[in-house]
Amino acid sequence: MNRRATDVLDELRRRRATDAPTHGGRILSYVYDSGRDEIDRLAAAAADAVRPVNGLDPTVFGSVAAMERDLIAFTRSAFGDANRPAGGSAAVGTVTSGGTESCLLAVLSARRTAGLPVGRGNIVMPATAHAAFTKAGELLGLQVRRVPVDPTSTRVDPARLADHIDAETVLVVASAPNYPTGAIDPIVSIGALAAQRGVPLHVDACLGGFALAWWPDELPHWDLRVPGVASLSADFHKYGYAPKGASVVLFTDRDRHRAAYFATADWPGYPVVNPTLLGSRSATGTAAAWAITEYLGADGFTELVRPVATARDALVEAVADIDGLRVVGRPEGPVFAVAADTASSTPIDPHRWSREVRTRGFTLQEQPRYVQDDETELPASTHLTVTPATGKVVDELRAAMTEAADAARGQPPVQAPEALGDLGAAFASGTVTVDDALSLDSAATEAVLVGAGIDPRTDPSTASDAIDIGAVIAAIDLLPKPVTAAMLIEFLAAYTTP
Ligand SMILES: *Cc1c(COP(=O)(O)O)cnc(C)c1O
Repeated sequence: MNRRATDVLDELRRRRATDAPTHGGRILSYVYDSGRDEIDRLAAAAADAVRPVNGLDPTVFGSVAAMERDLIAFTRSAFGDANRPAGGSAAVGTVTSGGTESCLLAVLSARRTAGLPVGRGNIVMPATAHAAFTKAGELLGLQVRRVPVDPTSTRVDPARLADHIDAETVLVVASAPNYPTGAIDPIVSIGALAAQRGVPLHVDACLGGFALAWWPDELPHWDLRVPGVASLSADFHKYGYAPKGASVVLFTDRDRHRAAYFATADWPGYPVVNPTLLGSRSATGTAAAWAITEYLGADGFTELVRPVATARDALVEAVADIDGLRVVGRPEGPVFAVAADTASSTPIDPHRWSREVRTRGFTLQEQPRYVQDDETELPASTHLTVTPATGKVVDELRAAMTEAADAARGQPPVQAPEALGDLGAAFASGTVTVDDALSLDSAATEAVLVGAGIDPRTDPSTASDAIDIGAVIAAIDLLPKPVTAAMLIEFLAAYTTP
């Protein structure tokens, strides 16, 4: 034996101890803690029960097919399929490994159904739609049109969306809610528009679908009940409280569902049929999601989402009471963003603020300023994902937010590292071009990062202290987007290189 099993596990536990806390509601992004241990234990036991199974072939491992049927039935019902006005057969769908995969499959189906040759076709969506659709466009050879949203409401005017739809539009995408500001797009109007133009509408409910379905306040319809909706994605591993690795994509049309599959008999091995992007696949995510939905049912989800809504309201109210900060737009679900209130005589930099909040025990997520295609801007902001666990510490968080604002008021915005500031100025003056920067090889790109004090060789166990994310976000504002993307790739690749 190379090492004793107990030593290996001890080391893993030591490493895990340096991670951000996944439980307790103190990290308001990435993790979705139900705040109930028994749900985590159930999910772990269910995942363990199917650990050796290969989800590649549900005819061999029938348990996978049975769980998937239950999950499609559950989500159909959660997302209003029975009240679908268009009638027809019930929605069908696929359990996937996550939101990105669900969105990719919706786009793949739309491209195949449209029948355009590779390299043609486009997707039309509000600027606030998730980056997964940019990825889908890049991978599938579709142009992605991010239509500017109203910077105040952060919602898109459907008429503007309509202006970007043409004969080669294969899919319109809308979010319920979007990630950057938590607003729900006007799905009913967009659905009507899509139907009128004969283009399918995908509702991306990856983030909040499993919260909105049982949200205590009345919401405009956003799900399968809306005419024009062709597909919908929702992540079990967000407000479905499952461990990472589970999402669902539903289609209102059977043929559109089938259009996302891959199958071939054209090789000497077994006949291949893949509903998702993967071949062999774990059934652990499916089992965990299945166990949680069976255990909670609609009533359990309703009960869990109530404290989320209450905490969300309390936190939005707390921001409204802080001079110098404001909530961005009109968030309607479990997430929202906070920006400087420029109407105040002392606007607070939202990233100074989140840095101060962090020293008081809560980690919020910084988001850069975004300049839309029409030159209007979504401001730099700080994102908060509110979970049931956050609901249990909401008074402490409110106090931290208010004290942090007092500490951050009057401080200048977080600055990019000086070297990246200089690089930004060089781009602005034209002494360096985007082509120059993109022609750098990975070693040279790493040297730029290290020169800027962003060292990817930082020990992962201390990285969260050593890397100043606020400064990195500030740098994103200064550099051309393709250059930022190249640097992000270099950073993460070098970070995991032995
Ligand atoms: C998280 C998210 C996705 C992508 O999901 P992953 O599970 O991270 O792959 C897509 N859309 C929205 C709105 C999301 O919040």
